[in-house]
Amino acid sequence: MRMIVRGARLREDHGLFDVEVAEDGRIARVVPYDDQKEPPATGTLIEAHGSLLCAPFVEPHIHLDTALTAGEPRPNASGTLWEGIACWSERKRTLTREDVVARATEVLRWQAAQGVLHVRTHCDVTDPSLTALDALLEVRDRVRDIMTLQIVAFPQEGIVSFPDGEALLREAVARGADVVGAIPHFEDTREDGVASLRTAFALAEEHGLRVDAHCDEIDDEQSRFVEVLATLALRSGLRERATASHTTAMGSYNGAYSFKLQRLLARSGINLVSNPFANLNLQGRFDAYPKRRGLTQVKEMLAAGVNVAFGHDDVMDPWNALGTANPLQTALVGLYAAQLTGVEEIPLAFSMVTDRAARVLGLSEAEYGITAGAPASFVLLPAPTPQEALRRQVRPRYVVARGSVLAQTPPAPTVLSWPGEARSEIDFGHPLG
Ligand SMILES: [Zn+2]
Repeated sequence: MRMIVRGARLREDHGLFDVEVAEDGRIARVVPYDDQKEPPATGTLIEAHGSLLCAPFVEPHIHLDTALTAGEPRPNASGTLWEGIACWSERKRTLTREDVVARATEVLRWQAAQGVLHVRTHCDVTDPSLTALDALLEVRDRVRDIMTLQIVAFPQEGIVSFPDGEALLREAVARGADVVGAIPHFEDTREDGVASLRTAFALAEEHGLRVDAHCDEIDDEQSRFVEVLATLALRSGLRERATASHTTAMGSYNGAYSFKLQRLLARSGINLVSNPFANLNLQGRFDAYPKRRGLTQVKEMLAAGVNVAFGHDDVMDPWNALGTANPLQTALVGLYAAQLTGVEEIPLAFSMVTDRAARVLGLSEAEYGITAGAPASFVLLPAPTPQEALRRQVRPRYVVARGSVLAQTPPAPTVLSWPGEARSEIDFGHPLG
């Protein structure tokens, strides 16, 4: 046995379990914990003491190419999506391979340390040199043994409206991008937007790839490209291999149209990714009061049976000067922004940065989960439940990638001297358990 995690709590089951990892880095067995049984003499032993063991976090939407460029060459003064794109367009001219590799790798290191082992990054391909794409392809290879990195060929400045936009998108796919992107609401006209989605789907079908479009990221109730994306997904058969990211215009749609859309999206099988940090920040900037939240219809689409995940999106770039790539932070902000605060909704928010996000990336059950035969990639969270992990915003005590410990965070207790009591550690738990 290569490793054993003893006495862990799993999300699906009550009781405690031992998870045994075979020499090949896969989970050999999951068996009920027996406190009378001696641990094996060889292999790595992790005593879970009832902590929550789950499959790693999944980041369904980040921009590793733009990460860590906030303020370069100038800050985004208006805070809008549009000025962010303009700032990035200037910064993009100075990109080098080393620059992109260093920044992307640093954020991947933060992610790994926080238990994110599957990542979908968008990469701007409206750059005639495709410098960032080549750099990210190199990074993807370098992290292959510990993390899955999917790269979306993302035409930040358009497919139809940017010079040679389609040719650059095709070239990005030829060089090895995993997913085809689009940005229909940024195209010059409605017709250009529709054409851009048709191009993206055709290219994906031609190469057997997935589609993930930045779609309707605008507070314009007239922006209705998600219906086009869903219809193309349905009719092409791409279905759950297609994702609409952001869809913030949906936060402004009227009730009658929303009802129609819920039915269409559920039938189409597409995924939605909501990015609460970015859109709480960017949207509503042209509103007086009342000011819109700028999020998609998270609760309503979940209720309609649509797969919805939460993404972190920007990390210290022109669209968000802050950001840590911490998925529990994303989920916490998302659950408040979308009011997923009911007792059954809080664990749902946790699933939106784990298994629901895994569905966006297309990870199969054989690749993702605490089950025999799956890769032994998991996180041990110092909390008994997803709700407590979210509330306390814990960092994984252990991050294990394919049977090897990748990151460890020892407990760092806060000691409190409370009047009339001996100094004691405080863990923000409920005193009655
Ligand atoms: Zn994005």
